[in-house]
Amino acid sequence: MATFNFQLGELPPEAEKVREEIRDFLARTLGGTSATKRALSWGGFDREFSRRLGEAGFIGMTWPKKYGGHERSALERYVVLEESLAAGAPTSAHWVADRQSGPLLLRFGTEEQRQRFLPKIAKGELAFAIGMSEPDSGSDLASIRTRAERVEGGYRVNGTKIWTSNAHISDYAIALFRTKVVPDKKHEGLSQFLVDLKSEGIGIRPIIDLAGGHHFNEVHFQNAFVPDDMLVGKDGDGWTQVTTELAFERSGPERYLSSIRLIIELIREVGAEPGERAAVVIGRLTAHLATLRQMSLSIAMMLQAGQNPNLEAAVVKDVGTSFEQEIPEVVHALLGVEPRLGSGKEFERVFGYLVEHAPSFSLRGGTREILRGIIARGLGLR
Ligand SMILES: Cc1cc2nc3c(=O)[nH]c(=O)nc-3n(C[C@H](O)[C@H](O)[C@H](O)COP(=O)(O)OP(=O)(O)OC[C@H]3O[C@@H](n4cnc5c(N)ncnc54)[C@H](O)[C@@H]3O)c2cc1C
Repeated sequence: MATFNFQLGELPPEAEKVREEIRDFLARTLGGTSATKRALSWGGFDREFSRRLGEAGFIGMTWPKKYGGHERSALERYVVLEESLAAGAPTSAHWVADRQSGPLLLRFGTEEQRQRFLPKIAKGELAFAIGMSEPDSGSDLASIRTRAERVEGGYRVNGTKIWTSNAHISDYAIALFRTKVVPDKKHEGLSQFLVDLKSEGIGIRPIIDLAGGHHFNEVHFQNAFVPDDMLVGKDGDGWTQVTTELAFERSGPERYLSSIRLIIELIREVGAEPGERAAVVIGRLTAHLATLRQMSLSIAMMLQAGQNPNLEAAVVKDVGTSFEQEIPEVVHALLGVEPRLGSGKEFERVFGYLVEHAPSFSLRGGTREILRGIIARGLGLR
């Protein structure tokens, strides 16, 4: 029977050296940023921060130098990610492009697309959104209906994408469209495109979330024209490509570090001499965190070795998001404080932010049930 392949390993010395460099950069750049702002972590969107991070060589780290990359290892990149998230750096303005759109173009894009987009992404100058979900297609992504029909010089697109994070403040999206309807074969006839979000025929409408925030959008395509040179990979190969992209999206430390600020603030709150109950809770959270980190690191090592860790990445995302979601509950049970927004102590506001956002952790990037299906299939159980 198939089984999980998590191997314990140590980070090489060059990765630990990068840790010093990124810590120094973050300390200088983030300065006195408040805990409440740091709690946003990968929800924070700050183009100036991304530009400075790019200038310092921390975006596109593993990409070839000829495309503006730095030819460093996946493990050095991992250290930059975990330090950025632990510090609560605002990563959204470069995150999607660095994590998935850039690697997708490296793998499937044309030479012209790589030269045109990758150097700018590595400089932190281009923000990308993800155009996958549609009003009736979330988990069942292959059922999307947005049509891209062949016309002279390109494609004419009609349909709607939904839950598109930051589309209103991004430059481009990588979007999945249906270029051909193949009866009874929904995984066929799909294609991926680079979409300039400022193009004519594209309307972006805000969706305000339950917490009153705007990061989601509906993106409407009405006879929008996408030129031929914006097709990514082969027409009709979209399903294989998009599943590769989803693997990039699921394998990083962001899948267990979203609530890290609350652990840090909890430790500050209970002080240097916590009672026994607080010490047990913090010890338990720390042990879980250390284990998850080791599992996640083992995935980075497999990626570095050119292996395919899809099954293990699904496990880390499932267990990791359960951990992230548990932290606000554990804090509430321990201290009995109430979450607050906008007013109150910094600790209460960090708590408030995470209570509000934790439910979404197990939805974004593929729901818990879908991941468990992938795990079961990977283990040969279904
Ligand atoms: C914070 C956040 C950011 C997001 N950002 C983006 C973005 O930028 N771009 C983008 O394209 N999408 C984005 N999404 C959308 C996200 O990918 C979808 O919400 C997700 O894939 C689930 O789809 P759905 O909402 O349509 O739910 P559904 O697919 O309708 O699922 C509803 C429920 O049914 C369960 N379910 C569905 N199918 C099965 C099955 N076969 N077996 C067992 N259970 C099942 C699900 O687990 C879930 O609990 C984002 C979502 C969130 C929460």
